[in-house]
Amino acid sequence: MRVLITGGAGFIGSHLAEALLARGDEVMVLDDLSTGSVENFRHLKANPKFSYWIESVMNRALLAELVDESDFIMHLAAAVGVRLIVESPVRTIETNVKGTELVLQAAQKKKKPVFIASTSEVYGKSTAIPFQEDADLVLGPTIRGRWSYAASKALDEFLALAYWREKKLPVIVARFFNTVGPRQTGRYGMVLPNFVRQGMKGDPITVYGNGKQSRCFCYVGDVVAALIKLVEKPEAIGQVFNIGSTEEISIGDLALLVKQRLKSNSQISHIPYDQAYEEGFEDMMRRIPSIEKISKCIGWKPVTPLDATIDSIINFFKGKDQMAIPDQYRLPARGVVPISAEVIS
Ligand code: UDP
Repeated sequence: MRVLITGGAGFIGSHLAEALLARGDEVMVLDDLSTGSVENFRHLKANPKFSYWIESVMNRALLAELVDESDFIMHLAAAVGVRLIVESPVRTIETNVKGTELVLQAAQKKKKPVFIASTSEVYGKSTAIPFQEDADLVLGPTIRGRWSYAASKALDEFLALAYWREKKLPVIVARFFNTVGPRQTGRYGMVLPNFVRQGMKGDPITVYGNGKQSRCFCYVGDVVAALIKLVEKPEAIGQVFNIGSTEEISIGDLALLVKQRLKSNSQISHIPYDQAYEEGFEDMMRRIPSIEKISKCIGWKPVTPLDATIDSIINFFKGKDQMAIPDQYRLPARGVVPISAEVIS
């Protein structure tokens, strides 16, 4: 299969590219490097089945050509990270809404199946834990920048599902929940790479708010294994799936765990949300996915423990090429896709 990955120089996209190549697929990457980096796929460049274009998905002519040459489109190009969203709302909205619209239009012209990456942010302030795919989305007001990300991604989902219902374009949508692992940068506010970097330098670990808010962190290799299974499953077409871990940890405890894995003497400092983001910033207290739907569809559940994931991030920042994921979670190549995550049924 020849797969076009938009956002393939990004954190998740580059791991996906690596895993697809490892199983013999051809991979074409389209990325404008707005948040991604060539470093993320430098090691793939020598592979004859790998090609890449440093361009935006807004380049319609190029997009049309690449869509034409591909068998499947994995649309991961998006503005991500709470900090980026709060600081650059225009970019967030335009990239997410226009980019997805152009990808769907191009795919429709050639009737090529598309995967659309969405986010757990769309559940917004909902307290109906665990979040189910058909649950209500509870967003905040438009005067708060953070919600533009959720609204833009929700619109992407509506549009993708409309293409399926109205035009029979095969689409699959997945909502990622706090995906973590090597290559994720803390530059756009993501908590775990920030904590690891701070702990390694001996700087204070910055917990926003009181640290009681919790998340479920899912290892990127587990997420990639789910994506590959999903796009192979005809029953997944026209559906929305949560992809994430169900193991909940408070951000305060996460800071302690990072300290422990690093044997770091860093202090933990609490920073008010207003200072960390913007005046009146609203955070979610809990965010847990229901993974019943995806488990039933492809027999998937994440298998990589959080401490092994943190170790892999530490090793990445130390510049060690081999990720510290234990062998049973690794593909034989250089990959970081846990084999055991593929199918559990
Ligand atoms: N957070 C934190 N310190 C940081 C970065 C983030 O305490 O340096 C908190 C953030 O306020 C949120 C959680 O960690 O409660 C997860 O943040 P992230 O941006 O990684 O993902 P989110 O779940 O908000 O999309």
